[in-house]
Amino acid sequence: MEQVAKKDIRALSKEQLRDFFVSEGDKAFRGNQVYEWLWQKGAHSFDDMTNISKETRKMLEDNFVINHIRVDKMQRSSDGTIKNAVRLHDGLIVESVLIPTSTRTTACVSSQVGCSLDCKFCATSRLKRMRNLNPDEIYDQVIAIDRESRLYHNRPLSNIVFMGMGEPLMNYNNVLKAIDKITSEEGLGMSPKRITVSTSGVPKMIKKMADDEVKFKLAVSLHSAIDEVRTEIMPFNEHFPLKDLKEALAYWYDKTKNKITYEYVVWDGINDQQKDINALVKFCKDVPSKVNLIEYNPIDDGQFQQASNKAIDRYVDSLEQNGITVTVRRSRGKDIDAACGQLANKE
Ligand code: SF4
Repeated sequence: MEQVAKKDIRALSKEQLRDFFVSEGDKAFRGNQVYEWLWQKGAHSFDDMTNISKETRKMLEDNFVINHIRVDKMQRSSDGTIKNAVRLHDGLIVESVLIPTSTRTTACVSSQVGCSLDCKFCATSRLKRMRNLNPDEIYDQVIAIDRESRLYHNRPLSNIVFMGMGEPLMNYNNVLKAIDKITSEEGLGMSPKRITVSTSGVPKMIKKMADDEVKFKLAVSLHSAIDEVRTEIMPFNEHFPLKDLKEALAYWYDKTKNKITYEYVVWDGINDQQKDINALVKFCKDVPSKVNLIEYNPIDDGQFQQASNKAIDRYVDSLEQNGITVTVRRSRGKDIDAACGQLANKE
């Protein structure tokens, strides 16, 4: 007999669950109870739902599955960073990272399995994009990290960055739904101001976010403000040139009044010259923004190497002299391949 694939019950909103129960001749309130089991109590099986009758549980079992993630492997770095290899219901794996500092604990989560973009310096780009993550798969990564944060660092998660595997704006709807869940009282109740979506820069989607009046922060992996250089390291820049990116960012700022953070790595022999610095300064002046200089972790063939401290100091001096806020972020979790650009499902 042909089997009809059961639907993932967690793909339903609370309203849809309520409607489902009404259509089954039950009370809408039953939908609230099941929703609570799925999202607040983290039920992995219908049998866990002890205040739901056996018949109703059987009916749910016949109609739905509960897909959930499983942390297959957890690695802890000597600096406190934790990396999770997360197995999805279909066996695919993504990674997420917990980064503790003295003042905050940040989850870096994935939004896609692999990535459709091809940034030359990024280990994830070597993995083919298999699929987008569902909202619940993104949410579950956050919940798993929040638990680890409480367990190993005695404090809840304070911040989230969408900077793991994948380009979040290529999975915009699901990322948005996950953020809604994370910020809702039924989820973690986290302020959207503590969430940053980091994109490689998809102009159309940046404008859409501005139109949608999202409340989270925006970061852009810029890495060069010169088109030829950026296209060399981020080939999709050919289709989304800096002029279009800048226009979209101006639109974003106009609508949201939220400053943009530019993530920027300085590589030896690639973007470490004065002309690169001048171009960045000019780019920053056009739209209110700040710069985060990130330490780089070589991934394999050594084509990309972190520039000298001197080159980084030159960047910092020039940006500061021009009144642009700049921070230098040291890399974390290098010993477990959890640092920026290193997520690649390595054993
Ligand atoms: S840096 Fe981000 S957008 Fe670029 S390939 Fe890696 S995961 Fe994809």
